[in-house]
Amino acid sequence: MALIAANLQAVRARIARAAQAAGRAPGDIVLLAVSKTFPARCVAEAHAAGQQAFGENHLQEAVEKITELRELGLEWHFIGPIQGNKTGPIAAHFQWVHSVERERIATRLNDARPEGQPPLNVCIQVNVSGEESKSGVAPGGESRLAEAIARLPRLKLRGLMAIPEPTSDAALQRRRFALLRQLKDKLAAHGHALDTLSMGMSDDLEAAIAEGATMVRVGTAIFGPRNRER
Ligand SMILES: *Cc1c(COP(=O)(O)O)cnc(C)c1O
Repeated sequence: MALIAANLQAVRARIARAAQAAGRAPGDIVLLAVSKTFPARCVAEAHAAGQQAFGENHLQEAVEKITELRELGLEWHFIGPIQGNKTGPIAAHFQWVHSVERERIATRLNDARPEGQPPLNVCIQVNVSGEESKSGVAPGGESRLAEAIARLPRLKLRGLMAIPEPTSDAALQRRRFALLRQLKDKLAAHGHALDTLSMGMSDDLEAAIAEGATMVRVGTAIFGPRNRER
């Protein structure tokens, strides 16, 4: 079997095991294949192995792949930092944006979402580790931003996203993901109907699923190591 197909099968098996261990249905967890830095042919290979949703964090690179692979009808998720002058193409080319952290950016995405397309699915990124260098609103800041997004008709707020600091400490991984789940539950208690917790990557997806992840974003474990890091 080709490598990407075999890797996908292994990642799906990890998701299923983690779900079972948590008493959850494996089908409740969506696998987002993070294809950043890999060429369109790798995306096509993953799609041939049954993968439908792909994540990218660099606009220009993504748009090239999206254009080249248009026929496949893939679902594209923007997961990287958003510059104010890039909101137009992001709103036009992607079905999801996971990395919304400012009201101004949300408003621009809303205004740029083309008529005739359904509302853009968005998640609020939360800086659950409190690292200075990391993107995302500070825990607690998601509440105001959620209120603002709820008023924007061309956006659909789906949930929260986090990228905790890398650590092999499984208990710490669990704490970071648990915090994101608690913040989502709090928003739900204030009337926001959210169905998405975007958390967990190649090295920590088990901990994320144990804490309620509904979408895991996996790159390395599917496509192999990246030689250009962004
Ligand atoms: C690169 C990236 C991933 C995938 O990370 P891996 O460790 O390669 O699985 C997930 N989420 C975001 C936001 C990323 O930028």
